[in-house]
Amino acid sequence: MSAVAERTTTYADRRKRAAELAERYDFAREPLALYGALAGSQERALERARADRPSVDELAAYVVRAALPEVVGAVMNAGTETLREAVLLRFHEGDLERMVTSWLRGETQKGTDVFLARAATSPVLEALPEIARALPIAGEERFCPQCGGSPQVSVFVDSGEALVTGQRRLVCARCANEWVYPRMTCVACGETDSGKLVVLADPDQLPHLRIDACERCKRYIVSVDARLESHAVPIVDEIVAIPLDIVAAERGFTKVTPNLMGF
Ligand SMILES: [Zn+2]
Ligand SMILES: [Zn+2]
Repeated sequence: MSAVAERTTTYADRRKRAAELAERYDFAREPLALYGALAGSQERALERARADRPSVDELAAYVVRAALPEVVGAVMNAGTETLREAVLLRFHEGDLERMVTSWLRGETQKGTDVFLARAATSPVLEALPEIARALPIAGEERFCPQCGGSPQVSVFVDSGEALVTGQRRLVCARCANEWVYPRMTCVACGETDSGKLVVLADPDQLPHLRIDACERCKRYIVSVDARLESHAVPIVDEIVAIPLDIVAAERGFTKVTPNLMGF
């Protein structure tokens, strides 16, 4: 199992970064504004979970009671009309605990269910690693060694030493844990043949971002080069990769884990 790297960002860092990037990248302004509003509600959910310390058995009920209403509030403030309508409809349909449980099990769900379950549950998992560790895990290095979730984004970090290649880390889409992962290895199927690994980039517009895709399984992940952008907050910078996501989709690649905004 991979080493667990120390997590380095807080929700406050993420909110600040979303505001910075929205100034710089006009095309991503709307999803970043929503992300910033959600991060505010998630920060409060994280703090509440640290104080309340729910058990793993009451996790889904706790998420629905303590985190979901604020997430819905953030959407009402900053979401598009389409998202606001979809979320309100879903919220009033009920059976919300099952929506959360189903997400934790990795079952196939509708987009709105994934969005709500993820936005409300992930800060609770982030607050309480012991609960994240109690979830069933796959044990393969491409899954989070803490909670078994899939990676959202890959990060290249400076090794701090000349002549030593920087480390690659993956950031969990569920609990925000980071772990070390080999470079030049597909995060979805483990392919290492460089002839099958494809890099898509736009160095003029997005110099610190790229896509690492795989011809074998047709999956990809966005990678953030933190050596080129020292203030990057990978989980937020990932949202800005929209132009690269479009190129990847045109070439038949699918993101290993769509981000919270659904891209
Ligand atoms: Zn995780
Ligand atoms: Zn692959």
